[in-house]
Amino acid sequence: MLKLKGGLCGFCAVTLATLGFYSCNNLSNTVMGSQKVDSLVSKIEELIVEKPTLHAKWDSLRDNKLVFHIDSLNPIPIKTQKQKLKDSLRREFDKHPKHIYLTFDDGPLVGSRAIDSIARAKNIKVNAFVVGRHSTMGKYRLRDLNLYIENPLVAVYNHSYTHGFNRLQTFYRDSQKAFDDFKKNEDNIAFNSKVARLPGRNIWIYDEEKKIDIASAEPTADLLFQDGYKIFGWDVEWRLNSLTGVATVPLETVYQRIVNFMNNKSSKEPNNVVFLMHDDMFQTRQGKKLLSDLIDKLIAKGYKFEFMEDYPIKY
Ligand SMILES: [Zn+2]
Repeated sequence: MLKLKGGLCGFCAVTLATLGFYSCNNLSNTVMGSQKVDSLVSKIEELIVEKPTLHAKWDSLRDNKLVFHIDSLNPIPIKTQKQKLKDSLRREFDKHPKHIYLTFDDGPLVGSRAIDSIARAKNIKVNAFVVGRHSTMGKYRLRDLNLYIENPLVAVYNHSYTHGFNRLQTFYRDSQKAFDDFKKNEDNIAFNSKVARLPGRNIWIYDEEKKIDIASAEPTADLLFQDGYKIFGWDVEWRLNSLTGVATVPLETVYQRIVNFMNNKSSKEPNNVVFLMHDDMFQTRQGKKLLSDLIDKLIAKGYKFEFMEDYPIKY
């Protein structure tokens, strides 16, 4: 049978359901080994009294907020219990839609126009993290930025004004200056909403989540978050040689990587995979064909294409 250690306060009950057990130090869940393991999910549901979500259960397992016990009469190793529970939750997630976020960084560049027209042709949502300064470089770059802004299928987000002139260590050394660079971009471009990605950094800050890859950029990310921004990194990245259109990793391989992230729930949020590409990848005929073919495979798989401002979609 199931036991609660300590008792369940009203605050915790809500916290369990909405925040995935954050800040509930006085509470632990006891799952007795004599339970049939496959029924663990429904038993956890009993513990989370206020609208349990699949994501809340997943977070509680991932963050080791559940306490498992071995029953001497019917011993099931804790590792097995956890694996069974994880598999069971995976199967639950698989009953829901899977969401893919195609994100294109560093536009407007040669290649942006192709992304704009492919999004229209396939009728899918895509996300452009743009660098305002690039719209001043070259005859057609302002045109390309405006194509994005005028296309309802393209969400346009902030990737800083200068991209730190690609000297990222220097850029992040002065966090106020880096933050001001993002604000300059905001002053110049009508963004869909306050969503940002930091140049060269796989940093996530949204809701209660925070994941930092390189600490030197954290103060800049914090300033943006305090200013109301959500900051997103990526789960899977793909690169092509921009001049030849040759992929560093074959299309089939990167497609399979996305599918594996979806199936194993190994992305930052289960059933939500953020996929990173760069605008300059799609300036050749071969590059454009690869993008088009990849999108066709994702459509055929039944994935839903989403805007980053809606991330993560939870159940
Ligand atoms: Zn970039």
